[in-house]
Amino acid sequence: MTVIAIDGPAGAGKSTVAKLVAQQTGLPYLDTGAMYRCVALAVLNAGVKIDDEHAVGKIAQDVTIELIDDKAILNGVDVSSDIRNPEINSVVSVIAAHSTVRQAMRSQQQKWIHSMAGGVVEGRDIGTVVFPNAECKIFLTASPEVRAQRRVDQSGGDVQQVASSIAERDRIDSTRSDSPLKPSADAHIVDSSTMTTEQVVACIVNIFKTFGEDADG
Ligand code: C5P
Repeated sequence: MTVIAIDGPAGAGKSTVAKLVAQQTGLPYLDTGAMYRCVALAVLNAGVKIDDEHAVGKIAQDVTIELIDDKAILNGVDVSSDIRNPEINSVVSVIAAHSTVRQAMRSQQQKWIHSMAGGVVEGRDIGTVVFPNAECKIFLTASPEVRAQRRVDQSGGDVQQVASSIAERDRIDSTRSDSPLKPSADAHIVDSSTMTTEQVVACIVNIFKTFGEDADG
């Protein structure tokens, strides 16, 4: 089974890069962040308090999430744009820090990997916890300034506000007790601060090919 795990902080360009790596390698693609975003939307829709771990965990267990091409379908409804709004950005990390939520998502992600017999999987804990046996692990990062500017170029907004929202999300993601954001000991760290998307994709595909060559020879 071939798994390319791409982890890293918010705004590092994981989604753009992971999709292109999937295209170039012919592997299916999974955006695990979209799954946590769907849970966050379901929690807000249900009017449940985001720090009520039990109620939030129940929602995570009961929701149906389908990720088809660029679409996110939550309980049969297309929520692709709703899950990207600022309100979701401000609550998703708190919701994703609950162990009940992580267990539910982790098990769905592992099922997906096995049913697809591999893939390019992006998130925060793929190389460390979801699929620690992935042969190719990338930790994609960039300076906080570059990450904030990229988000503003992509979706607009004030650069200072975007920078502080990203920093807060990274803080919660990297300090939670269950599967915190951190590079796996055997991950390749790719700092994309001064690289173009094409260069980052080529770099990751090259790292991946090295694994193939090692295995062959
Ligand atoms: O990747 P994206 O920015 O869409 O992820 C949204 C949030 O989902 C992250 O800030 C994090 O709180 C959570 N997440 C996670 N584990 C993953 C993927 C995302 O905790 N594997």
